[in-house]
Amino acid sequence: MRTQDIPIASVGRIGKIHERVLIKLGIRTCRDALFYYPQRFDDFSAIVSIAQVAANTIITVRGTIQIIRNRRSRNRRMIVTEALLADESGSIKVIWFNQGFLSKVLKIGDRVSLSGRTSENILDLTLVNPAYEKESIDTESTHTGRLVPVYPGAAGITQKQLRIIIRAAIQSSLHELSEWMPQEFFNVERLMGIKESINAIHFPDSAEQWKGARNRLAFDELFFLQLAFLSTRSSQQHQPAFTCTFYEDKTRRFIEDLPFDLTKSQKIAAWEIVKDLERSHPMNRLLNGDVGSGKTVVSAVALLNVALSGAQGAYMAPTEILATQVYERISALMRPFGISCALVTAHKYQVSSIKYPVSRKEALEKIHGGEIHIIIGTHALIQKSVRFNRLALVIVDEQHRFGVNQRKALREKNPSGEMPHLLSMTATPIPRSLSLALYGDLDLSILDEIPKGRKKIITKIVPSQYREWTAEFIRKECSHGRQAFVICPVIDPSDVLAVRSTTQEYERLRSTVFQNFRVGMLHGKMKAREKEDIMGGFAAGAIDILVCTSVIEVGIDIPNASVMLIEGAERFGLAQLHQFRGRVGRGEHQSYCFLFPTESARDVVPRLSALVKCSDGFELAEMDLKNRGHGDLLGERQSGIPLFKLASLADVTGLKKAREWAEKLFPQLGDYPLLRARLADFERDAHLE
Ligand code: ADP
Ligand code: MG
Repeated sequence: MRTQDIPIASVGRIGKIHERVLIKLGIRTCRDALFYYPQRFDDFSAIVSIAQVAANTIITVRGTIQIIRNRRSRNRRMIVTEALLADESGSIKVIWFNQGFLSKVLKIGDRVSLSGRTSENILDLTLVNPAYEKESIDTESTHTGRLVPVYPGAAGITQKQLRIIIRAAIQSSLHELSEWMPQEFFNVERLMGIKESINAIHFPDSAEQWKGARNRLAFDELFFLQLAFLSTRSSQQHQPAFTCTFYEDKTRRFIEDLPFDLTKSQKIAAWEIVKDLERSHPMNRLLNGDVGSGKTVVSAVALLNVALSGAQGAYMAPTEILATQVYERISALMRPFGISCALVTAHKYQVSSIKYPVSRKEALEKIHGGEIHIIIGTHALIQKSVRFNRLALVIVDEQHRFGVNQRKALREKNPSGEMPHLLSMTATPIPRSLSLALYGDLDLSILDEIPKGRKKIITKIVPSQYREWTAEFIRKECSHGRQAFVICPVIDPSDVLAVRSTTQEYERLRSTVFQNFRVGMLHGKMKAREKEDIMGGFAAGAIDILVCTSVIEVGIDIPNASVMLIEGAERFGLAQLHQFRGRVGRGEHQSYCFLFPTESARDVVPRLSALVKCSDGFELAEMDLKNRGHGDLLGERQSGIPLFKLASLADVTGLKKAREWAEKLFPQLGDYPLLRARLADFERDAHLE
């Protein structure tokens, strides 16, 4: 066994309690400790002689303890440890609060190094609560007199203990970490070696050295992610999948029968997908298109060809309402071709060839028997009870990463053992510069055109004096039978954030502003069933105004909704606001989006004004990336995307370089066992296996 793999508990004196805390932090082995990077540093590198110590500065002094003793504070509540430290230049007073044990640990005559802030009072200069460390001739300092690492911590373990453990891990196992990048890499890239980098990311001699280490280790994160993507792709190439036939004439007829012409990008995407389906290895493709760009028909073209080929396609939507909407649209499109569709959610079962709702048993039997070729539903589709006849294609709408395991589970439902082709669809615009980092394992089809004839959504940033005017506007729209959304950034009122909350606004609007209308509320704390009911009520027109949190972000189609009002608009990224806006303007009515920034946040108006001018989700996403980094883009959706510890998704150059090296080295992986071993570790740590 490599020393790196030995349990962390065996490198030093680590008690059971600490071991448990370390495991919570993800540190089980020495290797885990090596890759557990500090989140910041305390700069204790200014080592001065005592005579030079100034007031109110952070310094390190080294000397001998002259006096040390405990006393009670005046109010007797605290133990105060007082000491006097002397070097050749002079002496300084030191005090610690509530660390009475120090008078036992540090003894008169001990040589120590102390780091901390000095008091403001120059006349009674004191070093207050400094970090301390006994000096020894043969070891380097760890807690004082240097850039001292501060780690993401946890209750039950101190920073000092963490530093000691990590240092011990470095001492016992770093020597056997061998450079995994080949020489040809270092011939081109001026990056630090791995051993030096790991040492310097924890215990750098200087900020410069830390930067060097960070650059190298950040590169590694990008590089191994790309390498992992390539390896996933290549292993998929070896799995069997159902080979679909492309029914060109019928596809043409299908497209001609649509009440509109496909956009150019829809045609290209449909073509790319159909071509993938003709191959005998699983497709793994992401269809990325703005809200309303028409992803559903593109997916329908794929489903059509799968069904005509005699296999089955499944479409998974995030909610029951959406599944129902998609079911209605797709089954209508398939009717002329005699293709049966089914709807399967937790509570709803329908089969398009039968008018009345069927029983669950009946629906599942028909699916298993292969009578039904297109199955539309929610996550309920991957439950054990659903068995397919020959599942060739899975379409996942708005769920981003459909896990490898879920996919395996689907394959196991397939009597043939074939891996289904996978088409993921998302309306979250992913800037091209990011798609490599996030979806480097997928092929990408992009719908970057909005169908012709769509009315532009009129967007306004509304000054607060126009609040009543806006309310009146909404009342008018609703009296004409339209519907409106009101979005608030938080669910419950909060004193800290001076923003409007969903529950409060709901009460206010329901009881006063819109008392003559039917107002509903929707937020993430509600039960799934409740949410479905409210959404259903809104979709059916039983609710005029829906007050909600960002839960409606995910594509619900309410063609009758014409107004989107967003409170605390500055709290959202542009791309996200654009997504909200996309919930209206889906029917024939002119639609409006009103942005209300929080009063105190008026200076955000310039940023928000991009929304007034621009209606291209991709462009807005790029702006977000420039303005506020990638956090906004990913939002809560980060799950499943391996988080980088050091690398930045915005580092486009680094990403490209990482991809290039990955492409260059992947085919030669057999020649580089160390690289291969590191890839396996990386995949395990990132849960990518
Ligand atoms: P999304 O990409 O957000 O899922 P949808 O597939 O729901 O978009 O399409 C939104 C609306 O646009 C639907 O009513 C659909 O019928 C319509 N649509 C799709 N493609 C076109 C097109 N090329 N021209 C006109 N309307 C279209
Ligand atoms: Mg959609």
